[in-house]
Amino acid sequence: MTIDYTQQMKNMTPSVTSKLVTSLILVIDKLRNALPHNCVLCDKQSHHYRAHLCLVCRDDLPYPRDLCLGCAVTMIHKQRYCGQCQKTPPPYKLVTSAGYTTPLKQLISSLKYKENQLIAHELARHLAKRVRQLIDDNLLEPPQYLVAVPLHRKRLQTRGYNQALLIATALSQLLEIPLLDCVARVRNTITQTELDANERQTNLQGAFKLTQTIAPCSIALVDDVYTTGTTMHELARTLNKKKNLTIQMWSVVRTNID
Ligand SMILES: [Zn+2]
Ligand SMILES: [Zn+2]
Repeated sequence: MTIDYTQQMKNMTPSVTSKLVTSLILVIDKLRNALPHNCVLCDKQSHHYRAHLCLVCRDDLPYPRDLCLGCAVTMIHKQRYCGQCQKTPPPYKLVTSAGYTTPLKQLISSLKYKENQLIAHELARHLAKRVRQLIDDNLLEPPQYLVAVPLHRKRLQTRGYNQALLIATALSQLLEIPLLDCVARVRNTITQTELDANERQTNLQGAFKLTQTIAPCSIALVDDVYTTGTTMHELARTLNKKKNLTIQMWSVVRTNID
């Protein structure tokens, strides 16, 4: 006699099915936790498989209390902008967790060049801490959507993933803000590292293209590292040609600040 499990499942009450699923998830969780998970920074064993840093290393990540929302310099008082940015207000708010220093530098390098994709969640968690702080302090309006800075498909083929999208996806889960897939990188630009500000701008011109029309809304662009901001500004320019969007720039770290 063959047993029709499908029919049996259909005959089960939803509560029994959901209890079974919950129990199964708990068992899987326990099994995964039983496997060794070492902290990527100090190599000590972590107690939860979703934690890629131990609690000590996570708490030790650099996190200056107050950063300017224009240029990300450290400020003594809780306010939106530093003196310089108050004089010349920037077009977009810049949200970062810290400067480009160790061990954040190490984590970003591990995410980008050592295929350690799970690090994206730790970096997103660190940036989410800043976003939540700014929202709680009434210094920032939560955006309606997150947009990851896209990679050109050739770069995507080489790396296998877009680190900005991994961070944005984790942020989307942590902050419950949906991701918007609306733009592509259509030019495979050369790396910006060796270029000066003018060359960076020329290099990025026409790099992005909208893949769908966007209704007026507020958006946060998400990236791992903000250096001169040329990439994010070119992306913002492409997205906001109709001038009907409110755009913020979110990056895990900002280079060239203390
Ligand atoms: Zn650790
Ligand atoms: Zn400033």
